[in-house]
Amino acid sequence: MRKKIIAGNWKMNKSLEEGMGLVSEVSNMLKDEYKGSAKVVIIPPFIHINSVSKLIAENPVMAVGAQNCSNHKSGAYTGEISADMLKSCGTKYIIIGHSERRQYFGEHNAWLAQKTDAVLNAGLNPIYCCGETLEERESNAHFTVLEKQISEGLFHLNATQFSEVVIAYEPVWAIGTGKTASTAQAQEIHAFIRGLITKKYDAALADNITIQYGGSVKAENAAELFSAPDIDGALVGGAALESRSFVAIVKAMA
Ligand code: PEP
Repeated sequence: MRKKIIAGNWKMNKSLEEGMGLVSEVSNMLKDEYKGSAKVVIIPPFIHINSVSKLIAENPVMAVGAQNCSNHKSGAYTGEISADMLKSCGTKYIIIGHSERRQYFGEHNAWLAQKTDAVLNAGLNPIYCCGETLEERESNAHFTVLEKQISEGLFHLNATQFSEVVIAYEPVWAIGTGKTASTAQAQEIHAFIRGLITKKYDAALADNITIQYGGSVKAENAAELFSAPDIDGALVGGAALESRSFVAIVKAMA
């Protein structure tokens, strides 16, 4: 059965002290209030990863992730951080190709394919983001865009490697805008992505891949989104910055 994963992407927010406070609250609430089986991944800025990892070490529901990594293993790449380094600090998941990285830092599919390889070679799980812009949706290009993002970023992997990948469908028009895709819109895309995986690999592999939805997920809309058969959790931005709202989303994944 595929894993359900709720991940909280803090982006460039929270001082160390604020972040530790938030993680302690989430961890305590989950210990006391959560009986479900979803994995809860905290994805703070790089510099907090080691501290978060130590803080959640005793909480079996939680794991820590990173927001990005280098496509290189090591070497003279000033300012970069490798997947191996992140692993040594306790990281289990690494987001690859978040739309903000694609949009502001020029990350394209070929580069993301290399980053995916770097994550897998370190023995970690990539959370590979894909999603269309508003313009692409309005011109009915979204299926083509998604197919390109997924095939160019991931379809060089063999089936064993691909089984370690988590996919996050994040329509760019829904990220940080307060505008969520409807459950029907998200389900349609998730089923489409699973169909692409079936065509490239097989149905059994496709059925085992976790596909998260991301884009203005909140306590108020999470349960409805999670009721769709192909939505296996969420990648959460804004609502992950406050413990009550984040834990409410986790609890919606019953
Ligand atoms: C994100 O950053 O991946 C995201 C989905 O953000 P938000 O939940 O704020 O839309």
